[in-house]
Amino acid sequence: MVPKCGSKTGSRHEETSEPRVVGRLRGTYVVAGPCQGVDADQREFQNPFGMDTDCQNCPELAACRQQLVHGYGDVGGEFLVLGESPSAGAEQTGVPFTGDAAGRRLQRVLGELGLSRSPPDAAEPELQNVFCTYLTRCRHPDRPATDEEVRSCEPFLNAEVRMINPEIILPIGQRVLEALAVDYTTRAPESFDVEAEHATTIRGRGFELVPMKPLDEQTDAETDALRDHLLENVFARDYRQTKGRQER
Ligand code: SF4
Repeated sequence: MVPKCGSKTGSRHEETSEPRVVGRLRGTYVVAGPCQGVDADQREFQNPFGMDTDCQNCPELAACRQQLVHGYGDVGGEFLVLGESPSAGAEQTGVPFTGDAAGRRLQRVLGELGLSRSPPDAAEPELQNVFCTYLTRCRHPDRPATDEEVRSCEPFLNAEVRMINPEIILPIGQRVLEALAVDYTTRAPESFDVEAEHATTIRGRGFELVPMKPLDEQTDAETDALRDHLLENVFARDYRQTKGRQER
């Protein structure tokens, strides 16, 4: 049953298109047929792979969302930030992790790490070497996404991960950490505790995970600890040694 919270759909990007990028050879995209929105020269940070901006696979979310928020950032990024679903602020801007205090917290860290050239409150930050996305690209105003909705959205995430091919993934929150654990680590999902493993490195199958607590639950000291861990334990060594991970 479609919920009663309205039927606003669509986004700032009016064109709709199926994902058409079918491969990538170190910065060169292999594109099948006509493809609106794909930007082989990375002129666009927003939805650079031209994914469907009017997806209706989750009827309740499609009926309630202000707009769908696909991934955003540097398609050649070695870092990938993965959240659970857009916040109200991100849903307004159409850009992951912007539009509210939680987004500014992440953008500040990205700036301090040299992964953003923009101030923390930029609506469309100029990111470099990092891509930001979600488990689900649509937001319900009153509840988290269901497991079924996460599964429905997985093909979008899988396609982005394959094409970005990151070295380091930064999962935000317990649910995201557990979701990645299934495919990318040898540990049981229930063995993870994002509170205890905030700002640590977990060796995955093919890349490393650096988890963080939900942005709106982090103290300033915890955010600084995340930044310092990345600077001292990831940036300070050669992390480019984890290719060959399992295909999603
Ligand atoms: S959450 Fe994902 S699969 Fe569901 S409607 Fe939104 S874009 Fe489509």
